Amino acid sequence: ELLEELRGLPAETEDGRRVEISANISSAGDLAAVIKNDAESIGLFRSEFIYMGRDTLPTEEEQFKIYKLAAETMAGKRVIIRTVDIGNDKQASAFGLPKEVNPALGMRAIRVSLTRPDIFKTQLRAILRASAFGRIAIMFPLITSVWEVWKAKEILENVKTELDKNQIPYDHHLEVGIMVETPAAALISDKLAKEVDFFSIGTNDLSQYTLVVDRNIQDSSQFFNPHHPAVLKLIRMTIENAHANHIWVGICGELGADLTLTREFLEMGVDELSVAPYDILPLRKKVRSLNLSEK
Ligand code: PEP
Ligand code: MG
Repeated sequence: ELLEELRGLPAETEDGRRVEISANISSAGDLAAVIKNDAESIGLFRSEFIYMGRDTLPTEEEQFKIYKLAAETMAGKRVIIRTVDIGNDKQASAFGLPKEVNPALGMRAIRVSLTRPDIFKTQLRAILRASAFGRIAIMFPLITSVWEVWKAKEILENVKTELDKNQIPYDHHLEVGIMVETPAAALISDKLAKEVDFFSIGTNDLSQYTLVVDRNIQDSSQFFNPHHPAVLKLIRMTIENAHANHIWVGICGELGADLTLTREFLEMGVDELSVAPYDILPLRKKVRSLNLSEK
């Protein structure tokens, strides 16, 4: 019913404030749901799922095919591929990560990629090659400092140089962004914004690390409150710093689909909300029902 009512319509408030509504996916198998729910783009492809549930690392070719399929399916609409966010609750045996007492605070995401540049480069090559077939963007997870962004971009540049040498095509204008999902990143978002083309705020981890509550433990749910003023303040700060530095900013954590916050996010100035495919149409409906000029 929502599709009948909303297909092809923009996510725009009654008073003309437009926001992009994108989809979060974790495999090529989710692409059908992206199309079915009329997503404007893919705001988060959780690529680590390609590495999970198997004993060997996926090859460059294997990954290339998956990213290419996503790019072609979206036919010129943006597909943001987040580089592997392995570690913590998402384990892949092929990485051989050591057992940690406190894995949420240990080797995960960009930290794994920067310390295993061989695996990182293979993924970047696959993503870059696929970028010749659509509009792909790259996003680095769990950033906490500027040097991590420098280092990740340096490795990306090295991979580009290799591709150039071998005359392998890729999109030379591909956007590079980061997830803002740690309090550190939000607090230095003014500095980080100077290094990248966009931000995507990961409210799941941002809530976990701000409130010091494991996002996966049900027992602690009364303490896991993503509406906490500290979390909302960090989100607002990140959006302001992005815009002050002329880059766009989205939200790709669960909170992006929380209809009780849609108005507040739009008032903060968010440019994009990336949500699970089945949340797209209810969110579009919500946006279209709002009028920001009315109090
Ligand atoms: C987040 O942390 O909000 C996020 C979108 O990333 P993930 O849920 O995959 O950690
Ligand atoms: Mg996260």
